[in-house]
Amino acid sequence: MGTVPFFRFYRKNGTVPKLPEFMGVINLVTIKSKREIELMREACRVASLAQTAIEKAIKPGISTYELDKIAENTIRANGGIPAEKGYPSGVRGVPDFPGSICASINDEVIHGIPSKRAILKDGDIISIDLVAYKNGYNGDCARTYIVGNVPDSTRRLVEITKQAFFEGIQYAKKGNRLGDISHAIGSFVEKNGYSVVKEFQGHGIGTQMHEDPGIPNYGKAGRGIRLEPGMTLAIEPMVIMGKSNILQLDDGWTIISEDGSLAAHYENTILITEKEPEILTII
Ligand code: MG
Repeated sequence: MGTVPFFRFYRKNGTVPKLPEFMGVINLVTIKSKREIELMREACRVASLAQTAIEKAIKPGISTYELDKIAENTIRANGGIPAEKGYPSGVRGVPDFPGSICASINDEVIHGIPSKRAILKDGDIISIDLVAYKNGYNGDCARTYIVGNVPDSTRRLVEITKQAFFEGIQYAKKGNRLGDISHAIGSFVEKNGYSVVKEFQGHGIGTQMHEDPGIPNYGKAGRGIRLEPGMTLAIEPMVIMGKSNILQLDDGWTIISEDGSLAAHYENTILITEKEPEILTII
């Protein structure tokens, strides 16, 4: 899941959503101990297992409700809890998140709610974002999957989004600044003719799903906090094929592209080390 740095978008019916309460929580950037890193590693392993199970199940005809159950069962079978389930909306009248995964199809960017009525068909893309909580720590990852046959233009969007993550983490090294990562992601995406979502961003992660720092997918190199070994960060490019503007559906959760163009999402939880970053949600 991504955090919300500020609101620049409006609900489809034209009302401005209220700032969620959790936005008022100020965290500090946490540096994890060796013991905590092992616990993070395990939570991330469970999250990764759930993505693998989903990847195997993706096919035309399956509903996002069924994918949700596959993820939940995998996480629970491995001693974890699906942390997105019951995540507070922080907005009056909007229920807590009902699913174990966010399942966002085609022009849905993030935070799609799993449903028996949302059935995958040939040519779709679907972004699955999930968080496993185990032994007090969270592991967060997202993938965009291709359903059956898609045009090359769609495949390219999915590949560029994934590559944007890897462009970003080239800078996820001790002594670099956070803005180096953000800049690498944003400039790579734009160079390839797509847009990054500006209203949602990556984040620190640990005992809380969302910790400081916020990690935008755009920005200036050389700005922001310095990276230190022991930081665990969820880096998550959210990319729209067309313009960057987004809307929120009336369910209070689902974010779609305003122009109706396709969107993709790719995320891993990483660890800053003395040398190269470690990707904890790829096993
Ligand atoms: Mg996240």
